[in-house]
Amino acid sequence: MTDGEFDVLILGAGSGGYACALRAAQLGLSVGLVEKGNLGGTCLHVGCIPTKALLHAAEVADLARESSTYGVTATLEGIDMAGVNSYKDKVVARLFKGLTGLIKGRGITVIEGEGRMTGPHQVTVAPTGSADEATYAGKHLVLASGSYSRSLPGLDIDGERVLTSEHAIRLERVPASVVVLGGGVIGCEFASVWASFGSEVTIVEALPRLLPPEDEASSQALERAFRKRRIQIRTSAPFQSAKVTDEGVAVIVEGGDVIEAELLLVAVGRGPSTDGLGYDEQGVAMERGFVLADERCRTNLDGVYAVGDIVPGLQLAHRGFQQGIFVAEDIAGLDPSPIDEAGIPRVTYSHPEVASVGLDEAAARAAYGDDAVETLTYDLGGNGKSQILQTQGFVKLVRQKDGPVVGVHLVGDRVGELIGEAQLIYNWEAYAEDVASHVHAHPTQNEALGEAHLALAGKPLHAHS
Ligand SMILES: Cc1cc2nc3c(=O)[nH]c(=O)nc-3n(C[C@H](O)[C@H](O)[C@H](O)COP(=O)(O)OP(=O)(O)OC[C@H]3O[C@@H](n4cnc5c(N)ncnc54)[C@H](O)[C@@H]3O)c2cc1C
Repeated sequence: MTDGEFDVLILGAGSGGYACALRAAQLGLSVGLVEKGNLGGTCLHVGCIPTKALLHAAEVADLARESSTYGVTATLEGIDMAGVNSYKDKVVARLFKGLTGLIKGRGITVIEGEGRMTGPHQVTVAPTGSADEATYAGKHLVLASGSYSRSLPGLDIDGERVLTSEHAIRLERVPASVVVLGGGVIGCEFASVWASFGSEVTIVEALPRLLPPEDEASSQALERAFRKRRIQIRTSAPFQSAKVTDEGVAVIVEGGDVIEAELLLVAVGRGPSTDGLGYDEQGVAMERGFVLADERCRTNLDGVYAVGDIVPGLQLAHRGFQQGIFVAEDIAGLDPSPIDEAGIPRVTYSHPEVASVGLDEAAARAAYGDDAVETLTYDLGGNGKSQILQTQGFVKLVRQKDGPVVGVHLVGDRVGELIGEAQLIYNWEAYAEDVASHVHAHPTQNEALGEAHLALAGKPLHAHS
């Protein structure tokens, strides 16, 4: 006997879990959704949404500081973090309310409490604030317990001097100086926010470049732009140790250099939240804490699926959404097509932004051979709207010679908004000639995508041949 049985039982109500719940309910399946924290998970409460609100406040600060460029008389008098946090929290609260209503409206049973897998299709939940456990069963079980901020040996995260992104999101002051450990997406976004708010920022990255998974040209452009903004960048500088002092924190990198700052943000990646959840004991195949799932998000156990950050691959909210939808449709027998991981768009929302979809140049050359790949870079200098916005960057296209576009790489303010068109181009395996015949509104930054494809199709308009 269990305390409840569902067609689909989901452990974790973040992007992956709640998307699965919504779609499964839409398809007429009964759904139990176990959550120990807040519906919406990392993305809504401590990830995508609050960081993008901070980045928008940072953009407003930059515009105020640089207002004379546009002939507008304004001065940046300071950053009121209480005001910034209140704006950010309102955005989150509104979306949370909407999501809660949506989940209720679809008839999904939300089970509040900490769950663990206690049978092949069974989850036992310790309800928040109660000692009585309850056990639920699902014809299908979906594991969606998400991820946590990783640290490094020798680092003591105290939430005061040494922070993770969860602490940084709630910071009530603008630090005078910060060391950001890790030059990935999260590190670069926080570095960008703090530089705009007036902090002295140093990024320490073990690998030779920022945003290592991006096309090398994008990393280089971001580094140039960050240096112009006086962000210090220490690449090829593996972390050795850190010491909290009276004034702040001293970070020592390999070679012995010491970098001192008021705060240290540890942004060295996210690990899967799977420890102690019973997955191992129930025989779920795992590797380094991640749950292994095939292209249909199926684990090795019959009827047990895994979605989101616990599955190796891109740790992005929209990947989780798509996997969640996929699983619901798979369970309902709709036979959805597997998700092409390379077709998932990636955006770093710093100033400037970096966005991409498909293969970078090096990956394309490795996949198709050096002679079978062509690239074209269109400078945003030729794009009217980018000049109006006073932003620099590029559109870089990678294509198979005489074949489709296999990668789109963008750098510049607001280019994240162009990735929607870019992902259609990649996912539909469009040829440059197909895209070139489509009209792009003028003046928009979208035109830069159009112009790049015109040039790749051999008929450049606002570009030199
Ligand atoms: C600072 C930051 C910025 C980010 N920005 C972006 C961005 O701009 N765009 C983007 O696409 N992605 C971004 N991400 C990544 C994105 O947040 C994650 O990829 C996404 O949240 C993963 O969804 P998920 O469902 O796998 O896990 P999560 O969102 O982590 O959800 C897992 C849920 O499971 C619950 N849970 C865990 N264990 C249990 C248990 N035992 N019992 C009950 N409940 C449990 C947790 O409380 C949580 O609510 C960002 C992440 C961070 C940290």
